[in-house]
Amino acid sequence: MTEIITFSAEEAAPDRNAVFEGQGIPAGAVVTQDTEDLYNTARDVLSDSAAPVAMFAEISKADFAVVYRGVGFNEPSTPVKDISARAEQLALFALTLGKSISEKITERFEAGDFATASMLDSAASAAADRLAGIVEPRFLEYLLSRELATPSTTVLGYSPGYCGWHMSGQEKLFEFLQPGRIGISLTESFLMQPLKSISGVLIAGPADIHRFANSYPLCSLCETQSCRKRIRALPET
Ligand code: SF4
Repeated sequence: MTEIITFSAEEAAPDRNAVFEGQGIPAGAVVTQDTEDLYNTARDVLSDSAAPVAMFAEISKADFAVVYRGVGFNEPSTPVKDISARAEQLALFALTLGKSISEKITERFEAGDFATASMLDSAASAAADRLAGIVEPRFLEYLLSRELATPSTTVLGYSPGYCGWHMSGQEKLFEFLQPGRIGISLTESFLMQPLKSISGVLIAGPADIHRFANSYPLCSLCETQSCRKRIRALPET
């Protein structure tokens, strides 16, 4: 069954620290008034222009194996492959901030207003990440309402293009999920349009399935080590 999710303006508002981190400014740092003004402008434009919407649809492990395999370009060993094998429930998801906000970012870059364009780009990316963080508990609520999960079930999202799941995985994901229903399309190079969109798989199960060592072969080349922050935020078991 497919669920469509809409969001309130408050839900779609990005976290201030996340926006500044996107600009290379550490959380809590004191910023100049010019930077503060840029942030306020970006927040207002985002609030006026974003049209956030998301969808998810349950998928069996057998079907997800087909989606995950894609056209065969994944790394041989990846976290998603291992975690999905231990999942209790799976769903594909996609979300977008809509076309208008991407157009506003492009307009400002083309007008040479790079400072505003860059801040707006960071704000939109932070907003999309925030929406992904809302879709995860919505899938859990969905599972709980059908007695397919317990309160200790933990849901995390994983996306093609990260941690060894090749970008070309988008092709099969789009075939199964049909995100065109919420206005997202895929280019030949597997980029989503509108650009400020996220897709992937929601993996539900005990929190421990999401804990893994960053010792996959690709991890030695990873600059962000972003999985560590998510793992630290998992509930104790
Ligand atoms: S270290 Fe990097 S590449 Fe490895 S799992 Fe974590 S985020 Fe992915």
